[in-house]
Amino acid sequence: TAPECPDDCVFCKIVAGDIPAEIVHAGESTLAFRDTNPQAPTHVLVVSRSHYETAAELAHHEPMSAAEMLVVAGKVAEQEGMAGYRMVFNTGREGGQVVPHAHLHVLGGRSMGWPPG
Ligand code: 5GP
Ligand code: ZN
Repeated sequence: TAPECPDDCVFCKIVAGDIPAEIVHAGESTLAFRDTNPQAPTHVLVVSRSHYETAAELAHHEPMSAAEMLVVAGKVAEQEGMAGYRMVFNTGREGGQVVPHAHLHVLGGRSMGWPPG
């Protein structure tokens, strides 16, 4: 069973409908919505409905939910007419993760540079 939602988790609140978000896809075990501080013309977050701190922990406990994140990224790209996209899992303090609830960034709508810098 998934760990209980901490009551200060912003993504748990969005999943619960307690704070609003611009939802672009509702999956069985994931929810996709627009990032409020977009880093590209299209910037969507795909979050798990269950609360795990990292994508790795989610994949360990709920592999199908982690896989669904990737499938949803593809659906979002199609829906948004993206010619390509970047998927990012910021993980841990030095990985740039600010919200400790598993989420996938889907970025596109412009040419994504590599290396990212
Ligand atoms: P992280 O740095 O943890 O990988 O990314 C967290 C992301 O969540 C950030 O890009 C931030 O803009 C986004 N974010 C934080 N709070 C909210 C919110 O309340 N609503 C939405 N839609 N995005 C949020
Ligand atoms: Zn959470």
